Amino acid sequence: RAFNFNAGPSALPLEVLQKAQAELVDFKGTGMSVMELSHRSAEFEGVHNEAIANLRELYDIPENYEVLFLQGGASLQFSMIPMNFLKEGQKASYIQTGAWSEKAFAEAKLFGTPVEAASSKSNNYKNIPALSEIQIDEEAAYLHLTSNNTIFGTQWKTFPTTGDLPLIADMSSDILSKKIDVSNFAMIYAGAQKNLGPSGVTVVIIRKEFLEKANSNIPTMLKYATHSKNNSLYNTPPTFGIYMLGEVLKWVKAEGGLEAIEQRNEEKAKYIYDVIDNSNGFYYGHATEDSRSLMNITFRVADEELEKKFLAEAKTAGFVGLNGHRSVGGCRASTYNAVPLETCKALADFMVKFQQDNQ
Ligand code: PLP
Repeated sequence: RAFNFNAGPSALPLEVLQKAQAELVDFKGTGMSVMELSHRSAEFEGVHNEAIANLRELYDIPENYEVLFLQGGASLQFSMIPMNFLKEGQKASYIQTGAWSEKAFAEAKLFGTPVEAASSKSNNYKNIPALSEIQIDEEAAYLHLTSNNTIFGTQWKTFPTTGDLPLIADMSSDILSKKIDVSNFAMIYAGAQKNLGPSGVTVVIIRKEFLEKANSNIPTMLKYATHSKNNSLYNTPPTFGIYMLGEVLKWVKAEGGLEAIEQRNEEKAKYIYDVIDNSNGFYYGHATEDSRSLMNITFRVADEELEKKFLAEAKTAGFVGLNGHRSVGGCRASTYNAVPLETCKALADFMVKFQQDNQ
């Protein structure tokens, strides 16, 4: 298996891939692949409902929340949120912590008046704003934030408390990486292709009372209510993606649940951050220490020429996906749930050796 540090789509657990392979042409004696089952069949509904139940169990999702499986990626949520929850001229608060937050903000302009509640743009998105900097506007329809900034490598450690103001989080790149209290959020959404499964499914966890406030004069497929009334089976869902998501959830449970996953993610990231911190400036991180992501480790080799050599040699050594996002450059190691501890240790060892050989 490759040492896969891709930012997304990214590594999947080997055990999940092997199980899917074993079941590929004959799912549980049906003589069909999951992909060939009717989405109205009892077999598929079993897969679908088990995935929902396992996500509920892992996150301890309260009864008054719906779990939806949608399509269109997290990017469609950038539009659906303001389309459902903003009225013309109404304000919505957005915290700007990177490129994905900016995209969400831009979509909201099409439906209402997004207002910046805080931003770290002037610091080149190296940090998450302090809780004291966030302007809570009780008149806004909601407050939106990005829990983990995939491109800049920053992550919220403590979420703001927003009282009656509904809090919405784009958790695309750190969903299921640690325990969180779902009841603090009116809505959580995530494209599946990092910690949840293959691309093609978007998970939405939404409080029913919030959902009920949505606008009704919008297209059927873009209404959350359509999907909640139909258990996400209004139209043909991405059945194979949901099956894979279900298998990933079972894997997380078997690994010991979110506490165990969180502990392992901390250990994995520590290997790499320690090398950066102990390199006497040979490597340096993009994010400020208090905002460092456990999912996307963004760093530079101080000498630009050596950075090119580092990336080339890493590639030859079998490390995949270490180039930083095209908008920021440098290096990025994405250490999502399915990236094994040994893979992170191998990268840390490679970084130490590269420094020894090149300084
Ligand atoms: N939000 C975040 C934090 C992301 O990392 C990404 C993709 O990398 C997106 C949104 C966009 O997701 P999608 O490609 O599913 O539309």
